[in-house]
Amino acid sequence: MAIEKTLAIIKPDAVAKNYAGKILAQIEANGLKIVASKMTHLTREKAEKFYSEHVDQIFYKPLIKYMSSGPIIVKVFEGDHAISNLRKIMGATIPSNAKEGEIRKLYGNHEPVNGTYENAIHGSDSLESAEREINFFFTNDELCERI
Ligand code: AMP
Repeated sequence: MAIEKTLAIIKPDAVAKNYAGKILAQIEANGLKIVASKMTHLTREKAEKFYSEHVDQIFYKPLIKYMSSGPIIVKVFEGDHAISNLRKIMGATIPSNAKEGEIRKLYGNHEPVNGTYENAIHGSDSLESAEREINFFFTNDELCERI
């Protein structure tokens, strides 16, 4: 067992389409537990800070526009190998490359928008990113113990 915490964001496109419940149910059905939760609308500045690692990418500006275009739902999930487990059920970054049944295949936009992809969900990609991203959105006392 390797119990980890990971950050998930239900992105503006998925919130707008009312897919949040289905996406969260799929993650919970996979054994991950919610230990923190909030809804927020990222300012451009906050989105720029969160995605600063992509600042040199051609898709950076469209990505910032996309992520600040509407409210998001942010969760911390906990469970055995939570980071890799969540990424596995999310599927590939580009929704049309995800496999049948994966979240981005089911709920992402299969057409590019303004040079980027509305792919419904974000999940941390490493222990280091998970720690940084959880601290970006939550204080320690907003994380709950689950049994
Ligand atoms: P994520 O860290 O999973 O939230 O992914 C970052 C976001 O950057 C994705 O949701 C896309 O909007 C965008 N993105 C990542 N890779 C590409 C790419 N190759 N082309 C266009 N947009 C991308």
